[in-house]
Amino acid sequence: MATARPPFTGSFTQQEPIPEEGIGAALEVLRSGRLHRYNTAPGEEPEAAALEREYAAWQGADYCLAVASGGQAMQIALRAAGVGSGEPVLTNAFTLAPVPGAIAAVGARAVLVEITDDLVLDLDDLAAKAAASGARVLLLSHMRGHLCDMDRLMQVADACGVAVIEDCAHTMGASWNGRRSGNFGRAACFSTQTYKHLNSGEGGLLTSDDAALMARATMLSGSYMLYARHGAGPAEEVFADIRLDTPNMSARMDNLRAALLRPQIAVLDDRIARWNARHDRVAGHLRRHNAIRLPYRPPEEGYVGSSIQFLVPGIAPATARAFLADTARRGVELKWFGATEPAGFTSAHPSWRYVAPQSLPRTDAVLAGLFDMRLPLTFSLEDCDLISAHILDAAAAVLEAA
Ligand SMILES: *Cc1c(COP(=O)(O)O)cnc(C)c1O
Repeated sequence: MATARPPFTGSFTQQEPIPEEGIGAALEVLRSGRLHRYNTAPGEEPEAAALEREYAAWQGADYCLAVASGGQAMQIALRAAGVGSGEPVLTNAFTLAPVPGAIAAVGARAVLVEITDDLVLDLDDLAAKAAASGARVLLLSHMRGHLCDMDRLMQVADACGVAVIEDCAHTMGASWNGRRSGNFGRAACFSTQTYKHLNSGEGGLLTSDDAALMARATMLSGSYMLYARHGAGPAEEVFADIRLDTPNMSARMDNLRAALLRPQIAVLDDRIARWNARHDRVAGHLRRHNAIRLPYRPPEEGYVGSSIQFLVPGIAPATARAFLADTARRGVELKWFGATEPAGFTSAHPSWRYVAPQSLPRTDAVLAGLFDMRLPLTFSLEDCDLISAHILDAAAAVLEAA
């Protein structure tokens, strides 16, 4: 097994710097002292409002609300859609903890829907669970950037009377049949946390074309009576009753973060092209190994390859652990969704003990063989070649020996 290949030494969590323009704008906010979004000089458009205006235009949504995190965007969207305490909310069994967390935050009950071995929502299980639970809302997580057949999903959801809220934490900039991810459902939630497609450390964006929902969301985000000072919000008359009926849950974005984000919108398309070049480079290598299967990506899917997933169907847990250890020794940081103990950002549904236990045999079988790897833009294409070679070496050493 000895190989002359040097270990990989790059960091899987190192993102690119904030564009100089964003650093300059952030310094101006700091010098002004006006960090709070409603603290404006006469005639000034605050950075948070400008971000909302610009992101709504980029996304192609009527309204955009900037908030404190992607998780807050989801909680606010659920509440603004009228989800109440004890109510069932459908969601993917395969996602990250902030998604069942958002459902728990509004006091609702997560009803987990199976995924397919291409990592997307199983639409037959969705229809069955919508009928069985009577849920009125689906919080659809486009987990790790994989889009289900969005046309069919919307047909199923409409037929079941289920409103769709999209979790686009991994699909900002992605599309289905040329339509942007986030523009299918009633509302869409984005994260601008460091590991996502825009980076402000923490932050979130909520978009929708539904004026009343967005007025409720704006009040929930903590707008006080200053809702008119938003960059892409509903008309003032929409707030007439909503401003009195809706509690303030303080989850605003500040001008400093917005200043960091605005110049990043302009480079998003370029980032997407570079992520996809890296994703496709690694995918091309891994595809050559007969024990490794890459999830199918249909031609309708315009994806953003900021991470890559691959499956080793039927891998035994001990072999999976040996494979992880072998890749780690080579400097390659893989995540495995089949582990019984949650680690880092990765956890599977059985470790969400605040969610009622549910039997999800199909999802469990997929997760048992699912590996995941980040592809930060600080990696070069040559880095991608080296990483892939290490994965293939580890596969030869561990999988073929098993
Ligand atoms: C990161 C993430 C979120 C929410 O992000 P935060 O901004 O960290 O709250 C939601 N869904 C998924 C799938 C995520 O990975």
